[in-house]
Amino acid sequence: MAIELPVLPYEASALEPFISANTLGFHHGKHHQTYVTNTNNLIKGTDLEDASLEKIVLSAANNAEKAGLFNNAAQVWNHTFYWKSMKKGGGGAPTGAIAKKINEDFGSYEAFAEAFKNAGLTQFGSGWAWLVLKDGKLQIMKTANGDTPMAHGFIAILTVDVWEHAYYLDYQNKRADYLDVFLKNLVNWDFANANL
Ligand code: MN
Repeated sequence: MAIELPVLPYEASALEPFISANTLGFHHGKHHQTYVTNTNNLIKGTDLEDASLEKIVLSAANNAEKAGLFNNAAQVWNHTFYWKSMKKGGGGAPTGAIAKKINEDFGSYEAFAEAFKNAGLTQFGSGWAWLVLKDGKLQIMKTANGDTPMAHGFIAILTVDVWEHAYYLDYQNKRADYLDVFLKNLVNWDFANANL
């Protein structure tokens, strides 16, 4: 049973004008697909051939000999999580349990948004910014390249991809503008509430 590329949870044009169908088409159809293909090639004929994606990620984490498998499998997981972290008509201040929890753990939505944007901006090179949960408390986290919170014992609540391939066609080098749009227009708080 191979790992499969999940279908996008919306049409490729659903996030326009904030993220173009061109960007989403390449990002999902080429980048995400490549991580799926690489993962399947690396698990073929091994004891992980029939394992779940989460098991593959965790079994390859913190193991230098399995760095290639970890990077590819974690990138499959990260991208599936990223698609769900956005929705048409999303963004702005949260509602529901996540709104209360953000106020408790960050002081305000504005303080959360500033810290989340800063994590994305200061991730040097490729990587991810995350809202995560550990020991019952929300935290901001950033990871490099394919690294993922579950490898460090954190529960992911929300993520934004800050690899250049996520925004370069639409925003060129302006990562800050992409992060502003993600927060104001794209965040899927329903997904964050479901993960809490
Ligand atoms: Mn990506």
